[in-house]
Amino acid sequence: MGYVDLHLHTTASDGVKSPSELVRYANAKGLQAISITDHDTIDGLEEGMAEGARIGFEVIPGIEISAEYSPGSMHLLGYLIDFQNTFLKERLKDLQRAREERNPRMVEKLVQLGIDITYEEVVNASGGGQVGRPHFAQVLIAKGYVRNFQEAFDRYLKKGAPAYVDKFRFTPAEAIHLINDARGVAVLGHPNTLGINGARELENLIIGLIKQGLKGIEVYYPEHSSSEVIQYKALAERYGLIMTGGTDYHGIEKENIDVGVGRGEMRLPYSMVEALKRTKDESSRSN
Ligand SMILES: [Zn+2]
Ligand SMILES: [Zn+2]
Repeated sequence: MGYVDLHLHTTASDGVKSPSELVRYANAKGLQAISITDHDTIDGLEEGMAEGARIGFEVIPGIEISAEYSPGSMHLLGYLIDFQNTFLKERLKDLQRAREERNPRMVEKLVQLGIDITYEEVVNASGGGQVGRPHFAQVLIAKGYVRNFQEAFDRYLKKGAPAYVDKFRFTPAEAIHLINDARGVAVLGHPNTLGINGARELENLIIGLIKQGLKGIEVYYPEHSSSEVIQYKALAERYGLIMTGGTDYHGIEKENIDVGVGRGEMRLPYSMVEALKRTKDESSRSN
């Protein structure tokens, strides 16, 4: 039995390798299976699955959905989803539309504040990639409205500042329902980014998510400390959740993370994939 990596990004979101490149790379690394889990999109799955089929390598269709949550960030992984599901496709399109409206709205707000800025200038600053607040900051600095990034964020761009527009996100319940509706298995990604300190608080959150249809926890993750792994494992065992893991590899060399091994110490057995498949079968029987 070989090893797997169930958390990977491609050019369909913010990764560097195309879906086919990633699949060939993982195969060359000697892994048995991977999952492609791009942020809020299924656009890389068709290509990745086709390449897997072509070279005889197992690719699990996945997604990583950002949910509305504070103080930290909540990412919900959906595995073995039916990515042809019409409802899923529609909802992801809604999300994308909302994202596309965000940047022009921030430009409008800045103009209302008396700043001479156009959307084209911000797009040019991004160099053709995904447009984000750092590019707004670059334009504000270049035009002399602020001295540096810190000032740009403090005065205009940070959450609560006058030019800030909130990112549209699904609620945790919506994200889980969306995954379940597409016959996928919903897993709480890297719990250490939730910003929760107390063990009791995390446990209560998980109990609530289970009621919505959560089936697993991403226990193994490069940023998890060994005590966090122990904590998440115990929670999974207590509530009958499956345990998954992955490297969150984006293809960027400087992160010092590689497919299948993370920082060199990660070895995730294929039994994780079997547990996902079992869980999917069980939930489709009970529906
Ligand atoms: Zn994430
Ligand atoms: Zn990720």
